[in-house]
Amino acid sequence: MKEDCIFCKIAAGEIPCFKVYEDDLVLSFLDIGPVVAGHTLVIPKRHYRNLLDVPAEALSGISRRLPMLARAVISVVQAPACHLLLNNGVEAMQSVQHLHYHILPRRQGDGFGVPWPAGRLEATTARQMAAEIAAAVAKAH
Ligand code: 5GP
Ligand code: ZN
Repeated sequence: MKEDCIFCKIAAGEIPCFKVYEDDLVLSFLDIGPVVAGHTLVIPKRHYRNLLDVPAEALSGISRRLPMLARAVISVVQAPACHLLLNNGVEAMQSVQHLHYHILPRRQGDGFGVPWPAGRLEATTARQMAAEIAAAVAKAH
C-alpha cells in the first residue's frame, strides 16, 4: 500500500466506495465523477503506478476479469458498447497514480466523445517510425 494513494485507501477499506466486485486481486467500484451512467473503475488491490509498472502475471489476472465486469456494467445500463480506457501517465490524463481501467458504457447520442484529431500517415515517416518501434520491441523482448 502506498501511503498517499487514494485508491490504496479505497482498496484497504479506509475510504468508502460503491463496490461492484472484489476478489483477491482486484476491486471494482463506481467512479465518483461519472462521465456517463455506469462509469466504473477496476483497480488491482496492490499499488502499481500504471501499465508500465505492473508485472505481467498481475496484469493478465486483471485483464482476465475485464470482460466479465464490462459485460455486467453495460447490461445494467443497457448500453450496446463501452470503452475500456486506461490513462497511462500524467500527460495521458492519469490523475490517480494507481493503475486503473475505466469502464465507460457507450450508446449512440450519449453526448460523450473522445477528441480524435486523426492525421494522415505518410509512407516515409511511417517506415522509419515502424522500424524504430520494431527495434525497440525486439530489444525489450
Ligand atoms: P484518471 O484520470 O486517473 O484516469 O481517473 C481517475 C478517476 O478516479 C477519475 O475519473 C475520478 O473521478 C476517480 N476518482 C478519484 N478519486 C476518487 C474517489 O475517491 N472515489 C471514487 N469512486 N473515484 C475517484
Ligand atoms: Zn495505490
